Amino acid sequence: MTELSALYQDVILEHNRSPRNFRRMDDADRHAEGRNPLCGDQLTVWLKLDGDVIADVSFEGSGCAISKASASLMTAAVKGKTRADVARLFERFHGVVTGRAAGEGQSDGLGKLAVFSGISAFPVRVKCATLSWHALKAALESGAEPVSTE
Ligand code: ZN
Repeated sequence: MTELSALYQDVILEHNRSPRNFRRMDDADRHAEGRNPLCGDQLTVWLKLDGDVIADVSFEGSGCAISKASASLMTAAVKGKTRADVARLFERFHGVVTGRAAGEGQSDGLGKLAVFSGISAFPVRVKCATLSWHALKAALESGAEPVSTE
């Protein structure tokens, strides 16, 4: 883990310590589970939809600091957004964390999610950072099938 110390910026540490929207949602419309066997991360994302808008979102699970902080930041970022907004955000986030969209200005519009841009140097960790997003996508698309980043 020592080689990752540069990644553990304040935002990630803080969200890992006190994750936002970290709770079960009993009256959710949909949910999906995500597992990242490589790291041992596993989480469930719950959603409540209001038409096309994500009215509420929460998650629960266990895993490394990156997976947990990423899920926390994701819930904060997508609440109140439409499916189309979320799809675009995920695409940008994915591009930045995988390094496909590396370069000046690519983190614009990502807000706090940009703290994960350093992840692209650690390919194994990309799966930790994107796990909650894949689960969110699965919940939006079907709502039942477990996803795995393997
Ligand atoms: Zn992990």
